[in-house]
Amino acid sequence: CYRKGGYHAVRVADTFASGRYVAQRKLGWGQFSTVWLAFDTQTQKYVGLKIQKSAPEFAQSAQREIEVLSAIANGDASNSRCVVRLIDRFKHIGPNGQHWCMVLEFLGDNVLQLIRYNRYKGLGLDKVKEICKCVLTGLDYLHRELGIIHTDLKPENILLLSTINPSKDPVKSGMTPILEKPEGNPIGGVAMSAIERKLKQRAKRAVAKISSRRASMGGLVQAPKPDRCLDGIDMRCKIVDFGNACWDSNKFAEEIQTRQYRSPEVILQSGYSFSADMWSFACIAFELATGEMMFAPKGAQGFSEDEDHLALMMEVLGKMPRKIAIGGLRSKNYFDRHGDLKRIRRLKYCTLERLLVDKFKLSDTDARELAEFLCPILDFAPDKRPTAQQCLQHPWLNTKNLISESSIEKANV
Ligand code: ADP
Ligand code: MG
Repeated sequence: CYRKGGYHAVRVADTFASGRYVAQRKLGWGQFSTVWLAFDTQTQKYVGLKIQKSAPEFAQSAQREIEVLSAIANGDASNSRCVVRLIDRFKHIGPNGQHWCMVLEFLGDNVLQLIRYNRYKGLGLDKVKEICKCVLTGLDYLHRELGIIHTDLKPENILLLSTINPSKDPVKSGMTPILEKPEGNPIGGVAMSAIERKLKQRAKRAVAKISSRRASMGGLVQAPKPDRCLDGIDMRCKIVDFGNACWDSNKFAEEIQTRQYRSPEVILQSGYSFSADMWSFACIAFELATGEMMFAPKGAQGFSEDEDHLALMMEVLGKMPRKIAIGGLRSKNYFDRHGDLKRIRRLKYCTLERLLVDKFKLSDTDARELAEFLCPILDFAPDKRPTAQQCLQHPWLNTKNLISESSIEKANV
């Protein structure tokens, strides 16, 4: 992809914006861009530098993203609304063309990495609640105050606040900026994050512990309980990636959202609005609590991925009301006139609450409370879903779960 129209290849200590920003290491990448940790020589702070691919369609989407990010920054002077902040922007000319660059506040790992670090087990409901509160705060701001729909909410697009405080002197915080080209001029692969480092150390210690116990007991011992590697990590986060965002009053695309987080109205093409983001939010909350995607449809012989997706939704949420099932531009592809799926006839119904208990081993109380929080957001009727503002008032978010971690741990052993 590092070719004409594609990504801009960056090497450590490359400079941008007439020398102001110096590339340090790669932080991540997406479909449209690579994101680098850069040092801002003007403010002496670390920043995230998002460098867009150069082809015209990417340039256009970067311009839209900049427009949205500017609106976000203008309306949030105190930078407290849980949405990433745009600091600067410019065009950079490289061998593959002209790339739009966005300078963003430097954030930490994304929430998918967090799920991975936790070995795809649920995070513990108190942590889930913390993340949910931040995401809802961000969505409430976007939806109610700015009229913006994110349209691509997923764990990769929710970033934890950086564990290195970017407002501090980077030298004092333990990171010395690289300002000169290192020998060999490396491309600078993705470096280990603070959480990853912590996990590696704990894993090492656990292995050492087992081998010493094995030696002393002369045989096999039970594996240790899953580590509580995420203990003590502040779960505040922000929403990023506005590359596909739109105004409710000015939509660009009919097909939005990443497959697993896609709402039924988008699949059926019956028109979408802010509540499509709410659907994705509920799917994310489920994934954080269980470590598994809520809906992971697969196409197979005889039915499409879309039809499988609709079937999976109905299996946990109940049958889609006929009016909604047949009301979309694409309804005829999937539903007959009675509102039954054409090609998937037998559904295995199991309520969300049961699923949380039986498959994910949540306690009855935890499962009931989580299902009570999520089910209204997963209403097939988009306008019946609660808004982000209403969700923030929900008692589930405002009560502590003292037993949740131990019940999840029990389940994981
Ligand atoms: P794309 O539009 O190409 O998907 P994103 O904005 O989602 O780009 O960024 C891609 C990845 O880069 C993210 O998933 C994240 O890991 C990392 N990233 C993005 N923005 C930042 C930031 N401000 N600070 C740190 N990492 C970031
Ligand atoms: Mg992304």
